[in-house]
Amino acid sequence: MALALDTPVQFLKGVGPRRAEAFQRIGIATVEDLLYHVPHRYLDATSVTPIAKAAVGSDVTLVGRVVSKAVVPTRRRLRIFRAVIRDTSGIVECAWPGQAYLDRVIKQGQLLLVTGPVKHYHGRQVVPREQVVLAEADDEEREDEVGSGMVLPVYPATEGLSHRQIRRVIADHLDRMLGCVTSGQSSDVAAELNLLSLREAFAALHRPTSAAQPESGRRRLAFDELFDLQLVVARARYLATSAHKGYQFEIKKELTTALKRDLPFELTADQRKAVREITRDMTAADRMHRLLMGDVGTGKTVVALFAMLLVLENEHQAVFMAPTELLAEQHAQTITTLLAPLGLVPEVLIGRLSQGEKKAIRERIADGTSRIVVGTHALIQENTRFWRLGLAVIDEQHRFGVEQRAALIEKGEAPDVLLLSATPIPRTLALTLYGDLDISTLKQKPVSQTPVKTGVRSDKDRSAIYGFLREQCKRGRQAFVVYPVIDESEKVDLKAATTMAVELEKRLAPLSVGLVHGKLKADDRDAVMRRFRDGDLDVLVATTVIEVGIDVPNATVMVIEHPERFGLAQLHQLRGRVGRGAEEGHCILLTDDYVSARRLKQFARTSDGFKIAELDLKERGIGELAGVRQSGGFNLRYADLATDDDLVNVARRAALGIIADDPNLSRKSHLGLRQRIERRYERGMELFRVG
Ligand code: ADP
Ligand code: MG
Repeated sequence: MALALDTPVQFLKGVGPRRAEAFQRIGIATVEDLLYHVPHRYLDATSVTPIAKAAVGSDVTLVGRVVSKAVVPTRRRLRIFRAVIRDTSGIVECAWPGQAYLDRVIKQGQLLLVTGPVKHYHGRQVVPREQVVLAEADDEEREDEVGSGMVLPVYPATEGLSHRQIRRVIADHLDRMLGCVTSGQSSDVAAELNLLSLREAFAALHRPTSAAQPESGRRRLAFDELFDLQLVVARARYLATSAHKGYQFEIKKELTTALKRDLPFELTADQRKAVREITRDMTAADRMHRLLMGDVGTGKTVVALFAMLLVLENEHQAVFMAPTELLAEQHAQTITTLLAPLGLVPEVLIGRLSQGEKKAIRERIADGTSRIVVGTHALIQENTRFWRLGLAVIDEQHRFGVEQRAALIEKGEAPDVLLLSATPIPRTLALTLYGDLDISTLKQKPVSQTPVKTGVRSDKDRSAIYGFLREQCKRGRQAFVVYPVIDESEKVDLKAATTMAVELEKRLAPLSVGLVHGKLKADDRDAVMRRFRDGDLDVLVATTVIEVGIDVPNATVMVIEHPERFGLAQLHQLRGRVGRGAEEGHCILLTDDYVSARRLKQFARTSDGFKIAELDLKERGIGELAGVRQSGGFNLRYADLATDDDLVNVARRAALGIIADDPNLSRKSHLGLRQRIERRYERGMELFRVG
């Protein structure tokens, strides 16, 4: 039978209906799926030592049949699994201390590959680091296939389908399967990166002849994956910026120049650069669709204010939306102070105002009396109408849903959009997660700030820590105690946090202690936060809900319980809450988790949010970090954002070029791309249907 990429695996020799079902369970239906099912590791058998030549003290890879096996108890109650293996040159004993379960896995007669040191114990004994069953007792004819000179692929398997069975099916059909792979799927840019052709890549992954080959195969698949993703985000970017005509504002140097003159400080170089980038976007014909990313305290609000004033100079309105009332109030405060010398006052629209007040404010927004508006979700309600909305700034943008952001933007004809984020992420990740946005980055902190002093302590230091807390509060400072309730539905955690608040109240008396958590109603939460902000509470026990941008300059201490349960980026966010005033900030990580202490200490030494994000990415992979953008919804199978910068960059450049040229991928030569994206990203394709 002739094979094609869409041939069901069931029609391959050696795969019946039962196995086909097992394949289906791991997402493999067709020949193409099978090709893309690449090994998750390899055993390097390029140099297999004949058993007779395995010398004590060396590290070897051996291949032999199991001639006998047993589980042997020792005096120290450690059970050892032992197996004797034989090849044509001799026999040797292998021992796996503490792994008695292997007795159920390894069977007499099987062909086994083991890798590990040869020790001296009543003669030679191999203690394998790794072992793999190469063949069952009854497939004699396979013995020579796995001699030396091979890198053995090990495939992700499932119940009822072992990695060996998968290897066998793939090995048996690989040549014919490779024959189905057309060169049409490769792209020109791949040549620039010295990438293998797709066919070569599959061969390198499934039948490598050196230990280095699989990596070059992976890079090819990773590039394709990143390229497709970049096409999708380039398309999203096109829709956001070019598909509808934007405003082309003019630099009038009236308000912006006055603001610069009257600022009580000098802008940092990063801030100046960001202002330039934003101004360039706003004075161009395309719409601005930009993300301003910077750690807490890097001064994003001021930068946004320049953009807002540019809009005002051009007889339009600017709106600034924050995720909570407290944050909105805080921004309004900052903006009010900075604008005072210019004689401008922002309008503030938040939910807790009286109906009458809100009505009056909405009228002033609708008739253009108010040109600068700061607020919360109240802004996106139906009855809020703008006179001429020219710019929408959205703070902590990831705290809003896609629809909420859209609802604000749709209050205008085609306003420019500036999103703010205090979660710095590495560039490669940003280009992937936020590829539809242009990005400005603030790395420098205005000089005055000193890094938060961070220490890792254990439970035995608890009284000393409470002593420190009490002493700080006596001096008029305030403290946060953070308890991880990551998932607010976790009743047990919530109870623990609540219990702790009660306990602290006792131990820290007469200090006043408050508690906020995600189960509180927004109003109640705001009320507690407000009391803390206003200094009525000394200590605030909080689950992870404490406001991302909340500014309580008087708070100098943060104690974090179970810091090992947070990601590093999240810890960094949290500690940004203290040391925002003149006094030095302290962050105490309280853990008895010996294993995490090392990474926490590394964190304690680092104050650069971008570096921390990189550590986080290396540690936890994209999945967790992708949480910063709920709308992401993709996962990368082959690409590794921690190492594949070069691939990301080239893929991005190529994708932007293609979309600029053919935004709907409607050309005949792009049909293949369209189809591939359609298969890979259901949601991504929707973006192509819109246009
Ligand atoms: P972010 O939103 O990035 O956390 P903000 O915009 O709230 O930071 O700024 C934090 C504080 O730093 C504000 O009080 C702001 O007025 C101040 N600030 C901003 N830029 C500078 C600067 N270049 N020099 C000194 N202080 C600055
Ligand atoms: Mg902010």
